Amino acid sequence: MVAMASSNGHGVPLLLLIEGRSTDRPTTQEVLADAQGVLNIEWVGTLAEGIAKIKDHFVSAVLLDLSLPDCRDLSAVDELRKASPTVAILILARATDQALARRAVERGASDYVVTDQLDARSFLQLIAMMFERRAVEEQKFVERERAEVTLNSIGDAVMTTDTLGHVTYLNAEAETLTGWTRSEAFARPLAEVFDVMDALTGQVAQNPSELAIEHKKKVRLKGSYILVSREGAETAIEHSAAPIQDRQGNILGAVIVFRDVVVSRERSRKMLHLAEHDALTDLPNRLLLNDRLTRALAIARRYGRRVAILFLDCDRFKHINDTLGHAIGDQVLKSISRRIQSAVRDSDTVSRHGGDEFIILLSEVEHAEDAGTIAHKIIAAIAEPHLISGHELTLTASIGVAMYPEDGPDAQTLISRADTAMYHAKSSGRNQVGFYRSDMEAPAVKRLSLETELRNAIEAEEFVLHYQPTICLETGAITGAEALMRWKHPSRGLVPPDQFIPAAEASALIIPMGRWALGEACRQAKAWQDMGLPPIPIAVNVSALQFRTAGFLDDIQRFLRETPLASKYLELELTESALMVDTATSTKLLELLKDAGVILKVDDFGTGPSSLSYLQHCPVDVLKIDQSFVQEITPFPDGAPLLRAVIAMGKSLGCRIVAEGVETRDQLAYLRSELCDEGQGYHFSPAVDAEAFEKLLSMAPFAVPS
Ligand code: C2E
Ligand code: CA
Ligand code: CA
Repeated sequence: MVAMASSNGHGVPLLLLIEGRSTDRPTTQEVLADAQGVLNIEWVGTLAEGIAKIKDHFVSAVLLDLSLPDCRDLSAVDELRKASPTVAILILARATDQALARRAVERGASDYVVTDQLDARSFLQLIAMMFERRAVEEQKFVERERAEVTLNSIGDAVMTTDTLGHVTYLNAEAETLTGWTRSEAFARPLAEVFDVMDALTGQVAQNPSELAIEHKKKVRLKGSYILVSREGAETAIEHSAAPIQDRQGNILGAVIVFRDVVVSRERSRKMLHLAEHDALTDLPNRLLLNDRLTRALAIARRYGRRVAILFLDCDRFKHINDTLGHAIGDQVLKSISRRIQSAVRDSDTVSRHGGDEFIILLSEVEHAEDAGTIAHKIIAAIAEPHLISGHELTLTASIGVAMYPEDGPDAQTLISRADTAMYHAKSSGRNQVGFYRSDMEAPAVKRLSLETELRNAIEAEEFVLHYQPTICLETGAITGAEALMRWKHPSRGLVPPDQFIPAAEASALIIPMGRWALGEACRQAKAWQDMGLPPIPIAVNVSALQFRTAGFLDDIQRFLRETPLASKYLELELTESALMVDTATSTKLLELLKDAGVILKVDDFGTGPSSLSYLQHCPVDVLKIDQSFVQEITPFPDGAPLLRAVIAMGKSLGCRIVAEGVETRDQLAYLRSELCDEGQGYHFSPAVDAEAFEKLLSMAPFAVPS
């Protein structure tokens, strides 16, 4: 039995049979008598009765006998349709009436059957098929509606064409931008509706539909284009086109997606702003603060500067909310945020941390006292009366201060310590500024300072090097390894460099630590070669301070000689800022290193104060493009313009290019397409200990997509 589709949602669908009595043949009613129970069939003898029934019952289908006297002129079809626009109408016709039956279908009936030799079984099958067809049609309709809603709610304009390039569809945005309505545009040649010219040459642009169909893949039109609307309005657009294919891969046409460049830039700018700002005060939120703070700390680290974090909490703010209500509370917060902003420089960041807490990042302070002065200025600004909805409110606030590098190495620690200091300030009488002191923490275990710990660690030889491979993007072969320092802390386990290198740099301990790393890397490189593994160069990170230390060159030459290791197997990674400190001296030193035969790499390329003209004169061999550029590549690469520019810049200097932080296949594929030479990142391998790296070295090359 064919499955019966139910369309009324109440189980078995109701069929209405409108059929006269007959003496010369079995009526359909008699034929279907056996099917009662499977089908729910009701019989009426006249059209009028049938129409009355449809009006107050949910009838799924009508079986209409064409031989009824009032059905011969087919107006019955119209009347049934009028009574129920959705009902299926199946015409029952004698063999001699087939022409008339076809006209009934043209007039709006769903289908017809010739009843002369019909048995119950085939009849049931026919009805089942009719229901199935209706269900499919309904489904299609729903899908079309859904697609329509989607296409109209996305910001992009969408058009489709058939294989000959005739317009078949425009969504609402495409209608707006082209000035054509869908029905007017229908079947016109694309170029007429989508009138695009090259912004530079003024020439008519290539037909995107033809391009997509010809190339059988998505094409993104590079360049600047102007769409001229039907009324002559001009819009700068970017567009792409892709072929539409059926399941078998036959091309059915093309879809063109385009957008107003200015509007979409503005839209993404707004989205970004919303994501990074507090809705009430429009101040930067935690996300943006974190970003700025991380950046400020990186700069401070490089140039040996200070950063101050101020943690501000309003005193008795809850009282205002409770007595005057939230609306007033909100106004107060806005007013406070304006006062804080007026007390600091534009280059400082004021952010709302939630509730009545604010965090202020002062990125250019020389002394802790300067931070204190600004904190007092903020308190004084807040203490001025606030006039809000007729209330004159006086407020106080407490501020805690934590300084980089004295009070902590990273954003998290600094914020929590400023918070601790604020808490102490508040509890020792409100309206105060307090500085963080290490004895504010619960003195459970008296902590050694990080610096003392590092000194001990050098003595106790607690540092190890891990190695991360760099990969040739063409062959997948390992081209070298970067040595990355780890601290095997007796109680904290393996500590990553971010947690101790800054302190080591601030205390100059990086000099002996870096010297150790150089010696260790040379030893390891040689040991691997002696084991018969393919010889590869090892890259060692060199801190700016270390680079400027007298004796740096001597140390290197001594390590190479004593190991002994051929100098081409030692690479040095220096950041742009390290090179830029004293360019004349750096250039000279780089040349000496170059003469000694070591390979020079610029680390984190693109993030520092790069001066192309300076780099042009530096004998550097390799540029390592910073991870942040690689992160620009998304799974749907709309291009990564910055990355492309940085690669091009590096190539123009004649350098080999290594991309750092390659994490995904998509990033890898994109880098290959941009002809980047090498890659390094978790997609291939994280930094691993020497033993694990040995295994990598003896394995087959990494897979690279073709
Ligand atoms: P760096 O020189 O930029 O090193 C690359 C960092 O990125 C390493 O972090 C590495 O583990 C990480 N990394 C590698 N692949 C990926 C990836 O696919 N995704 C992500 N998100 N990260 C990846 P690590 O080992 O924590 O080192 C951090 C920084 O510490 C280094 O940055 C370097 O500036 C410094 N450092 C490490 N060892 C030494 C050293 O011996 N001397 C000096 N002066 N600095 C060192
Ligand atoms: Ca590095
Ligand atoms: Ca790097």
